Amino acid sequence: MVEQRPRVVSGIELWRWRNQAMQAAIANDISPYEVDWLLQEIAGLDRLALCLESFKDLSGIPMAMSLIDLEELWQRRLRDRLPAQYIAGITPWRQFKLMVSSAVLIPRPETECLIDLAVAAISQSEAIPPLDQGHWVDLGTGSGAIAIGLADALPKATIHAVDYSTAALEIAQANAQNLGFAERIHFAQGSWWEPLTSLKGQFSAMVSNPPYIPTETVATLEPEVMKHEPHLALDGGADGLDDIRHLIEVSSSYLRPGGVWLIEMMLGQADTVRELLQNQGSYCNIQIHSDLEGIERFALAYVNP
Ligand code: GLN
Repeated sequence: MVEQRPRVVSGIELWRWRNQAMQAAIANDISPYEVDWLLQEIAGLDRLALCLESFKDLSGIPMAMSLIDLEELWQRRLRDRLPAQYIAGITPWRQFKLMVSSAVLIPRPETECLIDLAVAAISQSEAIPPLDQGHWVDLGTGSGAIAIGLADALPKATIHAVDYSTAALEIAQANAQNLGFAERIHFAQGSWWEPLTSLKGQFSAMVSNPPYIPTETVATLEPEVMKHEPHLALDGGADGLDDIRHLIEVSSSYLRPGGVWLIEMMLGQADTVRELLQNQGSYCNIQIHSDLEGIERFALAYVNP
């Protein structure tokens, strides 16, 4: 029988752990606030209890994992640069808490803008029927973040979510289930549009955060990303644009006339992506949008009406 490690700790025990974890964080060039974020997620403590250290006096604090397991994972944070979100198994994204594991890329704050851009793209269009209805797809859904964001923002749309990785799809489906969107999102395994051939020409929109980092650059990313996040979700080939080129090439036959094509990309790719969209010949009203740091991060286009 597997021994059950105790999951209830005393306040004083957790207080001692927090102090040494914070010191170790500073010594290893990691923000000590990560410790408090982990304690909010894993021990259910609120920020005030952490600030005032009032949890120190509690006799029993129920934890999502034992202190021994937390310490083991924290050591991996320090030594292997395991991201804190993989320790907690959770990340905040828009108004959601999404489950994450090393099978999926940790959804980034900048990616949240894709949902607002999609909503804005609908209001700029005079398509009939309006674009907020019909089929929408998140290609390369990973944790399901974009699909869930779209399901929430577009109550009239049918959302599809595709990923090549079955392990990622399991996480995405669990997230949809936990957040109450299971009925709204259709999941499919496969490469980009491949599982959706029966709906060719019918999509109101495609949204994607594809891999876009050049292969050689992947090795230079911070160790949290390079060592722990799935390279399938990061590596976009020699110039980083392999998947974006594919999405430009094939998407116009899946989208309806006037449909929206919207992707995330990397610093320095905007001019090439705009040119690729122009040269393909099926797209109009091509727009580049910046993220909150001012980086040209998103490309949006409409299929010719
Ligand atoms: N934005 C991610 C990063 O900073 C990359 C995501 C992607 O390739 N789509 O690592």
